[in-house]
Amino acid sequence: MTEALFLLVPFALGTILASHGGLLGYRLPRKGNVVWVPSKCEGCGRRLSLLELLPVIGYLLARGRCRECGYRIPVGYPLSEMFLGLVFAGLWLKLGPSGAFFRAAVALTLLLAAALSDLEKREIPDALSASLFFFGFLFWGLSGHWSAPVMGALACGGLPLALALICPRGMGGGDAKLALGTGAVLGPFAGALALGVASVSGAAWALCLRRKEVPFVPFLFGGAVFALLLS
Ligand SMILES: [Zn+2]
Repeated sequence: MTEALFLLVPFALGTILASHGGLLGYRLPRKGNVVWVPSKCEGCGRRLSLLELLPVIGYLLARGRCRECGYRIPVGYPLSEMFLGLVFAGLWLKLGPSGAFFRAAVALTLLLAAALSDLEKREIPDALSASLFFFGFLFWGLSGHWSAPVMGALACGGLPLALALICPRGMGGGDAKLALGTGAVLGPFAGALALGVASVSGAAWALCLRRKEVPFVPFLFGGAVFALLLS
């Protein structure tokens, strides 16, 4: 029982970071201030109260709408918050409160922001790729594994980088930079697994929907979740 209660901690952390990831994904491509500006209603610009800003709970209390202007809050927000909360609870069960847990948490938050930005704007902010690199070297460096971020970047980003150079229409430079950064945080094994899962699922998706262009980052996010939880 107490153990189940303890899982509320990573769950809450996941919902809060997902909510911040959503904010990053929304504001970075619009060159908005991502640190100091409090969240506003996208419909009327009204500043949201602390209660309304609570992940998942705020959405449920407001029944999905702004109480002033009736703006319908996209259901993707509470869903992605719930999802990341559950993933964090799973990671906590596997890793406990360790450096590996926080490395995974930072990686998934930044990847979620990049996936949302890619889905909405077809744009991947360089700040997110650079942050992944930074945290990759920081976390691995603190545990004395200096080669892991380099090997990871090659394992996850080497192939996308080669593809982007040979066939820029098939793979964008932004995708390649993000894959390099993702590998730097995940390390070589999880990085390679995330790329493999992303490629297979992305290709299957493109085949099923008969699409030529599929955004890559949402699949890389899914691949990273798979690799971190199951490897
Ligand atoms: Zn409003």
